[in-house]
Amino acid sequence: MRKVDYFLTEEQQMIVDVARQITDEMIIPQRVELDENEEFPQEIISAIGQADLAGLYIPEEYGGFGGGVFDIVIALEQFARGCVGIATSFAASALGAFPILISGTEEMKKKYMPKIASGEHFAAFALTEANAGSDASGIQTTAVLDGDEWVLNGTKQWITNGGEAQVYTVIALTDKSKGPRGASMFVVEENDPGFSYGAKEKKLGIRASSTRELIFKDCRIPKDRLIGREGTGFFTVMKTLDMSRPGIAILGVGLGQAALDESVTYAKQRVQFDKPIIAFQAVQHILADMAIQTEAARSLVYAAAKHIDAHPKDASKASSMCKVFATDTAMKVTTDAVQVLGGYGYMREYPVEKMMRDAKILQIYEGTNQIQRNVVGQALNKEYARS
Ligand SMILES: Cc1cc2nc3c(=O)[nH]c(=O)nc-3n(C[C@H](O)[C@H](O)[C@H](O)COP(=O)(O)OP(=O)(O)OC[C@H]3O[C@@H](n4cnc5c(N)ncnc54)[C@H](O)[C@@H]3O)c2cc1C
Repeated sequence: MRKVDYFLTEEQQMIVDVARQITDEMIIPQRVELDENEEFPQEIISAIGQADLAGLYIPEEYGGFGGGVFDIVIALEQFARGCVGIATSFAASALGAFPILISGTEEMKKKYMPKIASGEHFAAFALTEANAGSDASGIQTTAVLDGDEWVLNGTKQWITNGGEAQVYTVIALTDKSKGPRGASMFVVEENDPGFSYGAKEKKLGIRASSTRELIFKDCRIPKDRLIGREGTGFFTVMKTLDMSRPGIAILGVGLGQAALDESVTYAKQRVQFDKPIIAFQAVQHILADMAIQTEAARSLVYAAAKHIDAHPKDASKASSMCKVFATDTAMKVTTDAVQVLGGYGYMREYPVEKMMRDAKILQIYEGTNQIQRNVVGQALNKEYARS
């Protein structure tokens, strides 16, 4: 479809074209089966790695493409047009890798990044626990230094790529008496002793993605797996989420675009009262709003991603703003798509019911949209206090 021209560079257009090809040739034909069977898309994830798209955000010296948030965003937009479950798995690997890139040692980056960049390894990010969701400071997982090893105990909940990833970045308390300032981040590898997984969760949407508990029972890891300094865990987590949230926002844009494409195509074909339903102004207005809102979301996400690449220290507000707007838009646009398709939209025979199911999670994970509004509100409060 003809879209607004964002004047992508030749390299960026190449990323879009490769991601689009994988989406059209692999993701769209398999998405229904993967969703129904709740199957992790291993073959597609490998293809993304082979196409050199797994390391878009990883510096060249660690085997990546050397791009930034914007480069991963334009690839994710295409994957989400096909299936948000698959796109989520890919985005969550970047989320798991960011803490190492942001705060890890040179040795850590050299050890883990090349295999993540080539797609051979996958990463996951473990913050949430049963009693620590929006209020992440309530985590109870602990890490205690014993000689040359850290010993982790606790359970992380609803971790994307759990059981599929090889590399896990995990936050745990190293000094309970200091509260959030006593939390630190670690790298845990899939085969570390004392590390296991819960059963795969049964979900409303994004069923191709794998969501599991991570269980640490006297899990022993070498001392040098600490990411950054002791006590800086939440600093790394916040910086990570600032970088990753545009990646969730753009899933809403790709999904919204797919819902719009399905709706216009259907409205041109479906005849009622002797006319294609697109001839009714009421239907045209729904479609027009879907197009306007999706394009506005795309513009904000692209702008936020470019801002974050240029000003990584001033990322929170832009990151939260685009996450809220694009994911609320995706929820609305996919619901409208079901309305345009009427009863057929409600049936699994058509893709829009899956799109509506997939949209909901975007307003919840990586910080709910209420929490993102809190971030924007707090930023405004600070900015205006200064001026
Ligand atoms: C499919 C899936 C995948 C996930 N993947 C990961 C992952 O890979 N890694 C990971 O660490 N976590 C992951 N999560 C966890 C996710 O980030 C949390 O679910 C999310 O942060 C919200 O926490 P909660 O579910 O405990 O909700 P709660 O914090 O209990 O919130 C419940 C409701 O209260 C509202 N609320 C709470 N506090 C406030 C407040 N201060 N102001 C206004 N409203 C508030 C919330 O907005 C929400 O509407 C995943 C979750 C799901 C469902």
